[in-house]
Amino acid sequence: MKSTILNKTEKIADDLYVITETESVHCYFLLGEKKALLIDAGYGYEDIHPILASITSLPVMLAVTHGDVDHALGAMHFSEFWIHPLDYGKLLMNDTPEIKGAMLDHRYQKMPAARTAIDRDAYLRTSVAASHPRFLCHGDVIDLGGKKVEIFHTPGHSYGHIMFLDQQTGRLFSGDQLTGRHNIWHFMSSDEQAPFATTFSSLKKLKARSSSIQSIYPAHGDYPLTLQCLDDLLECFDHELADHYREDQPFHSAMGDAWQHLYKEVNLIYSDERLAEFLGHEIIRK
Ligand SMILES: [Zn+2]
Ligand SMILES: [Zn+2]
Repeated sequence: MKSTILNKTEKIADDLYVITETESVHCYFLLGEKKALLIDAGYGYEDIHPILASITSLPVMLAVTHGDVDHALGAMHFSEFWIHPLDYGKLLMNDTPEIKGAMLDHRYQKMPAARTAIDRDAYLRTSVAASHPRFLCHGDVIDLGGKKVEIFHTPGHSYGHIMFLDQQTGRLFSGDQLTGRHNIWHFMSSDEQAPFATTFSSLKKLKARSSSIQSIYPAHGDYPLTLQCLDDLLECFDHELADHYREDQPFHSAMGDAWQHLYKEVNLIYSDERLAEFLGHEIIRK
């Protein structure tokens, strides 16, 4: 089982590995009897095929939870990949040398070793557009041989966000939509991220299937999580956010300024615009 400076590999179980890119995003690698499923491919700062080959010789299918660059740009190293159709455009839109160059500069600051480990010119030159997109929708089932994985469409953090349920073990791979204490971003413009009402509706549908879910594997932060993080987020959207948003603190990031709502296992980063749309009134803070 191989690791590199950029990608750390860990074995979670005989049929499940995690490859964490640049200490930031978890790509889960699930093995069936006939094929293996890679859930997310990271920024793609390097080609992880040698790592996958050090784990299994099974054919690999890549599917991404959503089109954000930290999950899906790594598809540039694969001849084809699976994504929800609503997020394919978002992925292409952010695959530009300018955006990738800015991302690299940000990464060098957070992780100086990345400067020599990443082939910058090759990274800027390689486009995910050359990889053939295949599409996954709600209710699709991926048969890995002795293991079936069901797709849940959970729009919110992005319109085409999907989760993956390993039906045999009840493991839910929740992407960026359910991340416990790790922050979830909901402050990008409405063409990239859905209204809170849509997120709330996705979470309620997930709750209706909770008897099938045993553990939750998010794309960032600690894993596995329990269903408590889903209940906390539901409570938050049901009434807690409306009651307490005035106590929230400002949140600053390279992508812009927002507000941070902390509650039990909820860490929500959001804009006043998104909250106003949800609550149906102007947001006034004192
Ligand atoms: Zn995301
Ligand atoms: Zn992410």
